[in-house]
Amino acid sequence: MWQVDRPKYTAGNSFRVCISRIQDPELKKRLRKAETFVITAAASYAASAESVTLHSLEQGDFIPDGVTKEELTSVYTSRMAKKKAVGRHIYDELILAAEDGRCPLCGQRPVSTLDHHLPKTLYPALVVDPLNLVPACADCNKLKRDVAPHSSEEETIHPYFDKIECDPWLRADVIDVAPAAVRFSVSPPENWSSTLTKRVRHHFKTFGLASLYASQAAQEVGNIRYYLTQLYEADTTQGAQRVSDHLREQAESRRQAHINSWQTATYSALADSSWFCQGGFA
Ligand SMILES: [Zn+2]
Repeated sequence: MWQVDRPKYTAGNSFRVCISRIQDPELKKRLRKAETFVITAAASYAASAESVTLHSLEQGDFIPDGVTKEELTSVYTSRMAKKKAVGRHIYDELILAAEDGRCPLCGQRPVSTLDHHLPKTLYPALVVDPLNLVPACADCNKLKRDVAPHSSEEETIHPYFDKIECDPWLRADVIDVAPAAVRFSVSPPENWSSTLTKRVRHHFKTFGLASLYASQAAQEVGNIRYYLTQLYEADTTQGAQRVSDHLREQAESRRQAHINSWQTATYSALADSSWFCQGGFA
């Protein structure tokens, strides 16, 4: 759920580039005619994404006259996503915008594709609109499926429009049973609206983040077990304190990078758990 800078290309730029090398004059003429429609549709999409009202967009308003859904979908698949396609440089630039090459939807797996925030099968006019194309990992892309939101609460977090990374919202709790495990949940800050809270919870569920993060955290606990044991045993009276101090420093270092990463939440929770610091890590 990381933010990504908005793309510099407009929907009009992108559409014009993608249809520029179509050989069939008849098809090219029809697609050119659809350009104004595509630009208007993109403006309406952007305004709705901004106001979290994407669910109110009528799917019928996103199919221009004179071209089919399949022809528009093919503008994306053959003229943008395909290697060496005329619009591929736009595709590549959108992919590269994700920080550290990580998927902004889960914050964990590497980006390998572009996800249509509103599905291309339901909103064909947005098929090459850069603001509707979000860098994503293959798993998140698959988990989201071709469904449209029915309410604001069902809108997953949009990396170009939502800024939720300044508030701490990801909570981790240590389960006090060996081997130590960490459970993740959404703990909204007080200033969040109930809609935003529901959206983040919906996003969390849609992308299976609780189990993804729990498995990452379990592996991390295994990785630091040896070091924590050394630290604990080196000081017979203050071992638990030294373990806790070390974990807190690690949490702080990760917090500087991302307030809501599973790593920040995990290290903070481990540092806070007296059970863990008193030998629960073993
Ligand atoms: Zn992902």
